[in-house]
Amino acid sequence: MENARHTMLLVDDTEINLDILEGIFEADFIILKALNGKQALKVLKSQKVDIVILDVVMPEMDGFGVLEAMKEDPALADIPVIIATADEGENEERALLNGADDFIKKPYNPVAVYKRVENILVKHVLEREKLKDALNNSKMEFQSLADSVPGGISVWKAEDKISVRYYNDGWCELMGCTPERFAEKYAEDLSKVIYPPDRERVMGALLADSKPGRSVHLEHRIVRDDQEVRWVNLSAVHYKTEDGAPIYRAVDIDVTSSKENEILAEQRNVELRHILEHDSLTDVYNRYGFCTRTSSFLKDHPDEKYVIMQLDIERFKVVNELYGIDVGDKVLCTLAECLKKHLEGIGVFGRFEADHFVMCIPDDREFQEHVRTTLQSQMADMGLRHEIDLYFGIYPITDRDMSVELMCDRAQLALESIKGNYNQNYIIYDDIMNQKVLLEQEITNEMEWALEGGQFQVYIQPIYSLKENCLVSAEALVRWFHPEKGMISPGDFIPFFEKNGFIVKLDAYVREKVVELLAAVKKQGKRSVPVSVNLSRLELYDPDFCNKLVGLIENYQVSPEYLRLEITESAYTDNPQQLLDTIGVLRKYGFDILMDDFGSGYSSLNMLKEVPVDILKLDMRFLAGNDVFGREASILASIVHMAHDIGMATVAEGIETEEQASFLKKIACEYGQGYYYSRPIPSEKFLELLDSGTHAEGRRASGSKA
Ligand code: C2E
Ligand code: CA
Ligand code: CA
Repeated sequence: MENARHTMLLVDDTEINLDILEGIFEADFIILKALNGKQALKVLKSQKVDIVILDVVMPEMDGFGVLEAMKEDPALADIPVIIATADEGENEERALLNGADDFIKKPYNPVAVYKRVENILVKHVLEREKLKDALNNSKMEFQSLADSVPGGISVWKAEDKISVRYYNDGWCELMGCTPERFAEKYAEDLSKVIYPPDRERVMGALLADSKPGRSVHLEHRIVRDDQEVRWVNLSAVHYKTEDGAPIYRAVDIDVTSSKENEILAEQRNVELRHILEHDSLTDVYNRYGFCTRTSSFLKDHPDEKYVIMQLDIERFKVVNELYGIDVGDKVLCTLAECLKKHLEGIGVFGRFEADHFVMCIPDDREFQEHVRTTLQSQMADMGLRHEIDLYFGIYPITDRDMSVELMCDRAQLALESIKGNYNQNYIIYDDIMNQKVLLEQEITNEMEWALEGGQFQVYIQPIYSLKENCLVSAEALVRWFHPEKGMISPGDFIPFFEKNGFIVKLDAYVREKVVELLAAVKKQGKRSVPVSVNLSRLELYDPDFCNKLVGLIENYQVSPEYLRLEITESAYTDNPQQLLDTIGVLRKYGFDILMDDFGSGYSSLNMLKEVPVDILKLDMRFLAGNDVFGREASILASIVHMAHDIGMATVAEGIETEEQASFLKKIACEYGQGYYYSRPIPSEKFLELLDSGTHAEGRRASGSKA
């Protein structure tokens, strides 16, 4: 044997045999000797031995006993053993079966013995080398595999900490540090790298009632060595348990960029959803958002009672026109802020469009009152010159199967029933309102036929000179005599006809009747007084309106100064330029224009500067009762005064008492109209009135022209 000196253990109870073998091998081997099996094992366990020559027959423990003990001990099992035996046959076979590598016969033939030992050693060394190679190869393969994985591979024990037993370079890369740094700082407890908010979740998953074979897949964040936070995807398999703690093989992959994309997509989603559900100006829910949220809100609170409350600003358009869009927007945002402040966590709220807000709040009268007064006082705090009035329509939710849209419609219906009403700013929906809708439906079905069938009649209400106390003009007011329902007053159908457009047809009819009446007065030689007709704002949009009107009076040969035209200021706020143009043309033809219901809106004073009307009609019904000394009374006085300053006459309408009449006279208002003088009367009666004299209460005064 060359170079390496191997160690050989010779075991025999006969010393002479030991000496013979020592003689054969001592030149090339380090020789150890044992006289029995027990001694042999002791030597084997205490030092490295490369080959054993073992005598079969020995006292205490024979050769087979030693062989067996060696094969059972993993540290010794691979050491080649040659059995030395005196008798052939049975022992040889037994030796080979028990794992001996070869046998030699006594007495020893030195050449053969040496050759056999040499063969065995060579074969053994070769095998070992091969094994080592194979092991190295597979280790290298594993390492390259482990290193080619874009992430960390590790084996660790999970307890209250994570003690690492193996990790690849990928882990160091993941952590952004050198392997040395990793070993020093993280290997002892890998749980330190988990981003603290995620720690409980991750450790919980790893320790949760784990059994071998169970795997854990989750995404969590880690804090790199440079403190950067990254997302990893962890796949760990619990492959065995030690001291009751799971040992995991794990792969961690950096998924930060895809996670970031996912988060970005999620954020985008949230943003889109926000846009879809929110109003861009005020950032409260829009119609869609409000309806969907309210629907789930009601499901989440099945045992409480709620109402839908709609909110509108009276003549919001005017605010925009007077103060500009910015101030208008500020009003809306102030309302939205106020809703946020008082309703967050209590109910749902939103803005449907323009000045139209809606909320779903507890069915608690006191709370609703609180919301209404708070919002209203918020408006007052804005310090605008004109008071901003809010109107509320309330629908108590009784049937939760009804769609939220329908609930809102009902609250809106309630609201619309009080809009423009000066002494009521909220109303609760009830079924009568629903019946009103049905009535409106009936009216639509019947109106055309009613007009053709002569169910509409023109009544005339005289207008008196307050000073002279005599009839000076009149106003035409329409009445509907329905065959079943009886007399329907215009308040019940005019607003509706304005909505569906039928008013244009009806007004044309009324005008024709009035012109017919004026022609009859003239023909019969009675004293003529001007009669005014109400113009719907819809007519002002008709470019042919002036021509038609002129055609009408020419046809009946009536002079234009006898047909007066009443318009309301809302026509001005709707479309100021259009109104100014039309008025200009009408006045050029010789028609007098009356501004109806003056003082009921916000734009009144402002508008007066621009719209050239001839007469102002002031509605006395806005005067609370008979209080002719209050604040409203002095406002009225200054309006009359101002009207005179710019060359306009004034008519007070709705005069019901003598106090009102004398007050108006005192403040130099010229004309009066109202039940105190006369109710609206059929046109035949009016003709008679013209005959019988034109003085109110029999007091005589000379005729005057209003
Ligand atoms: P308006 O033009 O302001 O008409 C005056 C209303 O006040 C009339 O109600 C009249 O009957 C009522 N009135 C008169 N004196 C008194 C009084 O002393 N006390 C009270 N409480 N009320 C008084 P009416 O006839 O019910 O008409 C309501 C509204 O319907 C009118 O208000 C007008 O805007 C509209 N309207 C009436 N007829 C026509 C029409 O032929 N065409 C158009 N477009 N609108 C009409
Ligand atoms: Ca009128
Ligand atoms: Ca009026």
